[in-house]
Amino acid sequence: MSESPVSRGKFLRSLGKSIPGFVLGAGVASAARVVAGKLASGSVATSAPPPEKHTPFLSSGPGDGNRIAITFDDGPTPGVTEIILDELKKRELHATFFMIGARVVAAPDLARRVAAEGHEIGNHTFNHLKLTTLSDQQVGEEIQKTQDALGEIAQYQPSWLRPPYGAFRASQAAIAQGKNLGVVLWSVDPRDWSQPGATRIVDTVLSQTKSGAIILCHDLHRQTAQSIPRILDGLLERGFNFVALSTLVGRPERKQTAVAA
Ligand code: ZN
Repeated sequence: MSESPVSRGKFLRSLGKSIPGFVLGAGVASAARVVAGKLASGSVATSAPPPEKHTPFLSSGPGDGNRIAITFDDGPTPGVTEIILDELKKRELHATFFMIGARVVAAPDLARRVAAEGHEIGNHTFNHLKLTTLSDQQVGEEIQKTQDALGEIAQYQPSWLRPPYGAFRASQAAIAQGKNLGVVLWSVDPRDWSQPGATRIVDTVLSQTKSGAIILCHDLHRQTAQSIPRILDGLLERGFNFVALSTLVGRPERKQTAVAA
């Protein structure tokens, strides 16, 4: 990992400070697809999006059809991502991987494997910075560099951006839309980055997942990899169908065809 532009220690410390901070502007929600987040009411404190009534960013899909999307942020991580890929392949399931551009550059073969095995890939910026602290130009660069890295390395063009820590201003949505990217958050968060133990990760996901859920995990730690077989089998036993994010929620509106509602 030493060749990664992202210092692992710094990176992990920054993850430890993860508190999504939304700064919602008025009247600019049309820049993003407006979907009222259906967050579990009365759920215990998690780092899931705060319960604003009209979060302007997608955080779940339609509640019919028992479909769910499991997503993995912060990879690709050699030694962890492969384990998750193997478990998905055994069950012929597809997931969505929100990759950090710097890590794609550091582990190009692994990024290509994710694409080759039919998973969806999303953009998780290049350096995993808190975008609300950056200028519009810097935000654009963080996003574009990852689009470029995935295009060059994996011949893949993501449709969705997930801002690190879920921190994104509604006024920044136009930057993503200008690059034909929708912004997506999550509805189930087992806080696996804090390494609470595989059993607790499994229990949180199984107890909070409902139809339309977007589950947030990280292909960053072995605990997450260890929890994945029980998560996949447990949700399959409950009758859920795993689909890629764009299958669950559709593709974001493209700027060429975007029309004000
Ligand atoms: Zn992240």
